[in-house]
Amino acid sequence: MSNLNAIYEDVAKCNKCGFCQAVCPIFRETRFEGSVARGRLALIRESIEGIIPFNNEFKETLFECLLCKHCVENCPAGVESTDILLTARATLAKDHVPLVQKLIFDHLLPYPKRVSLTNRLLRIYQNTGLRSVLKKSGLVGLLGPLAKAEDFLPEIPKTFRDLQPELTQNPKDATLKVSYFLGCGTNLLKPAEGVAAVNSLRRRGCQVEVPETFCCGLPAVTYGHGDVAKELAKKNIDILLQANSDYIVSDCASCGSALKDYPELFDPNDPYYVKAQQIAGKVVDYAQLILKLENKDSLSLESKGVVTYHVPCHLGRGLKAAEEPREILKSIRGVTFVELPEADTCCGAAGSYVVTHPELSERVLRRKMENIRDTGASVVVTSCPACMMQLEHGARLFNVPVKVLHLSEIVSLASRVQTKCLLSID
Ligand code: SF4
Ligand code: SF4
Repeated sequence: MSNLNAIYEDVAKCNKCGFCQAVCPIFRETRFEGSVARGRLALIRESIEGIIPFNNEFKETLFECLLCKHCVENCPAGVESTDILLTARATLAKDHVPLVQKLIFDHLLPYPKRVSLTNRLLRIYQNTGLRSVLKKSGLVGLLGPLAKAEDFLPEIPKTFRDLQPELTQNPKDATLKVSYFLGCGTNLLKPAEGVAAVNSLRRRGCQVEVPETFCCGLPAVTYGHGDVAKELAKKNIDILLQANSDYIVSDCASCGSALKDYPELFDPNDPYYVKAQQIAGKVVDYAQLILKLENKDSLSLESKGVVTYHVPCHLGRGLKAAEEPREILKSIRGVTFVELPEADTCCGAAGSYVVTHPELSERVLRRKMENIRDTGASVVVTSCPACMMQLEHGARLFNVPVKVLHLSEIVSLASRVQTKCLLSID
């Protein structure tokens, strides 16, 4: 409880105006006060005041939030409700850590080789026919909520690390040195976006290195395991400082915003605080870096298509870089850009939310997909591997005829960079 007592004043700043309700994707679906910032803050406040106990009964309320920060952006009192929520989750995690979380945070994420092994096991599961046997027999239903996750999972490709030898070489006359931060989602599930990102930056004169970094630590923060996040951050900070590049670029909005937030993990007296600030100062999203570079190729596509853009929460409200991808898309000749209604509303992926809350996630996704359908777009572009998988899942589920591409993929296509992994826009 001591952590919670320390944030009492922050919690008490809530004036109960209810502005958070208007933008909360979860409240929109449940109409339940406990699903939105105001209700959650009231519960936390009452528990600090000793009116109700703070125990596992809180769990559902605390974990039903997408952490999309839409409420924070819309709060006239400036209540950082998602930070408060993370403190509450961390307080709960001190007393009770579910076995699955213990395995993931203590025995998987800190070990990149084990993470890669998971990818290989999943590929075996898919490629040996075991997946289709389980699906046809109905046994996949025994997985419970994981059965939904099974639907969400794309064909597991070769990892980015496996594809690395096939990348375009660094230019000899490079003008900038860039460290590409390889996120777990990009490496394991969406390597094509990483290949496109690195190749397109190298073609624009950057010397791009891909250091052997660890998970950014965001999943650990989300589940209240600040100690694990801190250890991962320290390792990444040491590696990235050693790389000594001009920029640290990420094509995953979640990883990028986690790196930007590294200073928040450390006490200002900790030597890593200053190091974390140095790293955070160099972090840019892929779109920001593309716009900084002299564009040697004029972007154009032969296919005349309508393209729209979904803003990942960590890009818009984390890195504050929602406009840059739109600027790039609007500059591509041959593309008609149409603004997506509610473009910056969460798609419902929210890391592992799709696994822990499949029904709610699907309800949030339905609205997103109907908005996409209304634009008439044949391609929806975004900047996060989890959003990509969620939108692909939504297109299948709700029968929306749209292709999902990462910004790096459409930039590569529009610069005529040919890589084996890329899809065409048609
Ligand atoms: S918008 Fe802010 S102040 Fe208003 S009820 Fe929500 S959290 Fe409280
Ligand atoms: S972070 Fe998003 S899901 Fe959570 S309460 Fe705020 S608006 Fe709702």
